This record gives sequence, C-alpha cells and structure tokens, in this order.
Amino acid sequence: MILVSACLAGFNCRFNRKSHENDKVIQLVKDGLAIPVCPEQLGGLPTPRNPAEITPTQKVLSANNEDFTEAFVRGARETLRICKLYGCQKAILKSRSPSCGSGKIYDGSFTKTVIEGDGITTKLLKENGIEVINESEV
Ligand code: SF4
Repeated sequence: MILVSACLAGFNCRFNRKSHENDKVIQLVKDGLAIPVCPEQLGGLPTPRNPAEITPTQKVLSANNEDFTEAFVRGARETLRICKLYGCQKAILKSRSPSCGSGKIYDGSFTKTVIEGDGITTKLLKENGIEVINESEV
C-alpha cells in the first residue's frame, strides 16, 4: 500500500479548501493501491486555515503568526501510525507543503522562496524508513 497526500487524490483539504488533483494518484487510489491522508487535518487543524511555513527555528507558523507546530507534529505522528498499520513502504506527498513537501519547502518568509528541506510529516516518515516522493516523480 502507498500513502498519498489526500489533496492529490482530490480531497479539498488544502488550507484554501481546494485540492491539487493528480490523475495518477487518483488512479492508484481507485485501484486500491493507495490510501489518502491529510496530516494537517489529522493534526486537528481546520479547513480552511491560514497558510503556514516552517521557520528557520523549525517552528510552523501561519501567515498570521499562529503557532501550528504542535498540530503539525501530531498530524505527522498520526500519519506514521497509518503508514505502519497499512504497511506502507512508500509515500507520494504534495511538493513544497510544510507537512508533505520532500526535498524542497518554502523558507518561512512567505515570499515564495524555496529552500532545501522536508515537511514535518515527510521528515518523520523518512526517519522511519519510508520512501517519500512528490507528485511530479510518480
Ligand atoms: Fe495536502 Fe498534505 Fe497539505 Fe493535507 S497537509 S492539504 S495532504 S499537502
């Protein structure tokens, strides 16, 4: 089983209550090969919510300076729990998200500046031996 970002599977779970549909990811779910999960919703955050980025001090702050760090960490742990329950060895997660981004994320300045790094969930999954790729690598 593959874990996928729910927004890639068509769920309107992004901060702006929109999805980011990816046909290949949707097909994987339809074929019963992938399970969609949204770490930010699992962490207890509402939808819609203010956009957030990871700061250089590893806090997750919203554009309005709300501290979302605890919710992001909770969502990452719950996502890992689902991965373990379903035996997922691989995940396809939304690029550049502060939860799901892999390899590249925004720098915390809300200026659309991209830096090297992983989202909070991606980091935890990788630390637990799960391979993470983004939707453009499917
Ligand atoms: Fe999509 Fe992940 Fe953001 Fe949820 S946390 S909306 S699954 S990118």
